[in-house]
Amino acid sequence: MMLYKSTRSTEAASVSAAQAIKQGLAGDGGLFVPERIPALSAADLEALRGMSYPARAARILSLFLTDYTEEELLADCEAAYRPESFAGGAAPLVPVAEPLEILELWHGPTAAFKDMALQIMPRLLSRALAKTGEERTALILVATSGDTGKAALEGYRDVPRVKIMVFYPMDGVSRVQKLQMITQTGRNVGVCGIHGNFDDAQNGVKAIFGDPEMAGQLDRRGYFLSSANSINWGRLAPQIVYYVSAYCDLLNAGKRRMGEPFNVCVPTGNFGNIFAAYLAMRMGLPIQRLICASNSNHILTDFLRTGVYDRNREFHLTMSPSMDILISSNLERLLWLTAGSERTAAYMQALRTAGRYEADPDVMTEIRRTLVGYYATEEETAAAIRRLWEESRYLCDPHTAVAVHAAQRYIRESGDRLPMVVDSTASPYKFANNVYRAVTGLEPDSDLEALEQLRAATGVPVPYPLSGLAGRKIRFADCCEPQQMAQRVMAFIG
Ligand SMILES: *Cc1c(COP(=O)(O)O)cnc(C)c1O
Repeated sequence: MMLYKSTRSTEAASVSAAQAIKQGLAGDGGLFVPERIPALSAADLEALRGMSYPARAARILSLFLTDYTEEELLADCEAAYRPESFAGGAAPLVPVAEPLEILELWHGPTAAFKDMALQIMPRLLSRALAKTGEERTALILVATSGDTGKAALEGYRDVPRVKIMVFYPMDGVSRVQKLQMITQTGRNVGVCGIHGNFDDAQNGVKAIFGDPEMAGQLDRRGYFLSSANSINWGRLAPQIVYYVSAYCDLLNAGKRRMGEPFNVCVPTGNFGNIFAAYLAMRMGLPIQRLICASNSNHILTDFLRTGVYDRNREFHLTMSPSMDILISSNLERLLWLTAGSERTAAYMQALRTAGRYEADPDVMTEIRRTLVGYYATEEETAAAIRRLWEESRYLCDPHTAVAVHAAQRYIRESGDRLPMVVDSTASPYKFANNVYRAVTGLEPDSDLEALEQLRAATGVPVPYPLSGLAGRKIRFADCCEPQQMAQRVMAFIG
């Protein structure tokens, strides 16, 4: 059985995958990691080539989640990635301008890549409750600045033995994001706006998690608190799948022969998505270079160049908001793989107390064998959207554009012409206002009207999760003060 341990602990691994998924974070504050990395052989890849996406996903997950049966995993993957949810296929690879291949990860129910993990993880959690003998219902609490809340609501909707409640800042999300959340369907979901900003929402949720009296009250009613956070292993493992799947698709398209290398470029925020690619590489997938793309918050570019991770810097709001991050939590897992647990614990301690750490030279040498960092300014991001549209008639969102910019810079500077898989993490319609500005140079009439204006200007269809939003029935008009959040939670479970 594959066991899991904390990135910060030198003790032997002792936790099952189900336990790690249920618990989320290790007891010492570290992140759960598998005790060893399973190998992916050419024979495995040969077998995966002929499979559907759900079958590929089940096979790869079974290497890590050994306490789940193959039947369970296949049933969950087939339900998660069913065609009604992923209308354009789970993770299609679209060639644009050689050598770029865009891996579209946004065909799920919220039109963003978080669906790739959040459609499957709730099913894994639901089974984890049974496997660990948990009799209570999991109550997921989320504070959101927009995208995660909606993806979590869709993922946990009607999942047995789980309820989910999302808090969002009334004036801190876009109109599209708000409409997506307050029209959410499902029997086990709740949504509440708060008078305040995202930090108020986040602090309110943290206060509830840290309140023993609240835990006692919930326990008496048969609930325990859980989070949908991106550091949960149940969110990370499903992300390994699409890198392997992309290579299978390159093989099937005759663009690679078995074993020939390729490159990958990932628009990065919390470092979860790109770490999954790194792990796929360590399993044996022939990724030669992994390009870490950042926006103006380029703390990771600086880290990869200098070895110093320093969060004492200005924070920028950009048109790729899901990458506006100064602490990339999943970087801890890369440090663990390259520096070991003792040094990882020391780096994280320094980050907490001084806001910075310097990785040792041998660690950076190992990391740089695969990873290289580039970033795009706001102007460069808009230019990449416009260029890709004008030259290749491909419409991309600002996060994807950051990655396209980084990939093209890398190719120009290195002369490396291997096939370059670029992750596309959101539908352009999710950020229609900025995409419309970049493509046409015009100001949209409003956030909501930008969708139709962009469609009229480009002829690219609006994906189903975002069409007809204005006509959907509003279910959750409630809002409260930050101090009333706990009360709203208790009212929600009834
Ligand atoms: C979450 C997100 C990212 C960043 O992914 P990480 O795994 O946090 O690095 C990039 N783009 C979009 C659209 C996202 O929603």
